[in-house]
Amino acid sequence: MKRNDWFLAAGILAAAAILLCFQMFRKTGDQAVVSITVDGDLYGTYSLDEDRIVEINDTNRLEIRGGYARMEWADCPDQVCVNHQGISRDGESIICLPNQVVVSIENGESSGVDGIAR
Ligand SMILES: [Zn+2]
Repeated sequence: MKRNDWFLAAGILAAAAILLCFQMFRKTGDQAVVSITVDGDLYGTYSLDEDRIVEINDTNRLEIRGGYARMEWADCPDQVCVNHQGISRDGESIICLPNQVVVSIENGESSGVDGIAR
């Protein structure tokens, strides 16, 4: 009876350790993050996995949906950022020059595959 309890405890601990390792690997591994800087200062970072709308001050509005980030709205005169296609890969970025807003992807999940393919 007592020996079974030890086995049970050890089993639970082992399972918890494996789960923790798995989660840490996921976080540092292939989770893409959207990084926003305004005028050179970091405005915020957001997970690309979560659908959301990010208001960037009163000048830009970023939409994150389905693993893509795209500028939904901006008050800049050229609208280059709004017309830019959605970004999802590591190193890709949308730049709104008039508003000094830079949106970029970090740790994009497909970057590693690209590196091997090239
Ligand atoms: Zn713009």
